[in-house]
Amino acid sequence: MMAAMGDDPIREWILSEGKATQITGIRPVGGGCINRASRYDTDAGSFFVKTNRGIGPSMFEAEALGLSAMYETGSIRVPRPFKFGALPTGGSYIIMEFIEFGASRGDQSVLGRKLAEMHKAGKSAKGFGFDIDNTIGSTPQINTWTSDWIEFYSKHRLGYQLKLARDQYGDSTIYERGQRLAKNIGPLFENVVIEPCLLQGDLWSGNISSDKNGEPVILDPACYCNIASGFKAPIAIGSMSSLQRVSMIDLNGDTNSILLRELGKLTQLRRLNVLNMGIMRQNLECHGVLGLEDLFIMPILRYPCSQSSFSGERVMPKQPGFEKRRDLYMLYHYLNHYNLFGSGYRSSAMSIIDDYLRMLKA
Ligand code: ADP
Repeated sequence: MMAAMGDDPIREWILSEGKATQITGIRPVGGGCINRASRYDTDAGSFFVKTNRGIGPSMFEAEALGLSAMYETGSIRVPRPFKFGALPTGGSYIIMEFIEFGASRGDQSVLGRKLAEMHKAGKSAKGFGFDIDNTIGSTPQINTWTSDWIEFYSKHRLGYQLKLARDQYGDSTIYERGQRLAKNIGPLFENVVIEPCLLQGDLWSGNISSDKNGEPVILDPACYCNIASGFKAPIAIGSMSSLQRVSMIDLNGDTNSILLRELGKLTQLRRLNVLNMGIMRQNLECHGVLGLEDLFIMPILRYPCSQSSFSGERVMPKQPGFEKRRDLYMLYHYLNHYNLFGSGYRSSAMSIIDDYLRMLKA
C-alpha cells in the first residue's frame, strides 16, 4: 500500500521541491554520533538526510541555520541545507545536499585560508550571538544577541558553563574563581578591534572533511558570531582539545613528553597511537563510542594548527595580544568538557583560571 502524503515528509519534499520524480535507493550512512543518517539517491541527484526519533526539530533547525549562514558566505564548502521538520511519528529530520567525500582531509592550508575567508565574509550587524541557541556537544549554547563581546563571552560562554559546573557538581570554587575572571577579562582586549564574524563554532577534526576534488568541507556547526580577533582565535574557540593547546604552544619543543603528560590518563596503546600519529578513525570518533580521550588525540593529528593557520593569517591577520587571549578561548571548551565528561577536565580549566587571575591581579 502506498503511504499517504504527509506520512513521510522526507519523501514528500524530495519528490516536490527536491525536483525528483523517483527515489531510486535509500542507504544508511555510518559515522554519525547522534542521529541516523541516510543517503537518498534520486533521478535529481542524491540527498543527505538525518533523522532523530527522540528530539524535536529545534536541533536540526539550529543545524540548518548554521549551515545556511556558512553557505551564504560563499567561501568554504558546506552542505547546503534544504529542509528540516518534524516527523509524524515523533522526532525530526533534516535534508541537505549530499557531498561525496574524498579520501583525504584535503589541503590543510586551503582549509585555513577558506575558514579565514568565511570569518571575513560572515559579518554580523546584530553583534555577537546567533538567531537561535544551539549546542556545543550536548551542552546548550546560549546565543542571545549582545552588542558587547566581553559581556557576551563572560556571560553566555564562560558564565553559563561555570553555573553548570556549580549546579551539577556543587563546584563553588571553580564557579567563584571563574566568575572573578569573567568579570575581569577587559584588559585582555585592550587595543583589539572587536568585530563580530561568523564562526563554525565546533571545529574539530570530526567536522572537517573534503570533497572529491580535495576541497575542504566543514560540517555539523555550532555557529555563532564571535570576535574576529585574529585567525587563531576562531580555531581556539572551535577546538575541542587540550592537545591542540599543546600543539599550538610547543610544536617545536619536546612535544612528545608534553603529550605524554597531557595524556597521562590514556592507555599505553593509545599513547602509542598518539605518538605514532596513526589513528584517524573517522567512523568511531564520537564521544560515546571511543570516549573522550580520542577527541584529545585527534586534533593534533589533523587539526590545522600550523600550516593552515598561517595561510589563514594572510587573509585575516591576528590581532595584537592574541596569545594572551588564546587560553581564555580554550577555557570555554575545557569547562564544557568538565561539564560533559567529568572531573578529568577540572584541573586544566582551573589552572587556566588561576593563571589569568594571577596575570590580571584579579
Ligand atoms: P551526527 O549529527 O549524528 O553527528 P553527522 O553530521 O556527523 O551526524 O553525519 C554522519 C556522517 O554522515 C558523517 O560522519 C559523514 O561521513 C556523513 N555526512 C555528513 N554530512 C554529509 C553530507 N552532507 N553528505 C554526505 N555525507 C555526509
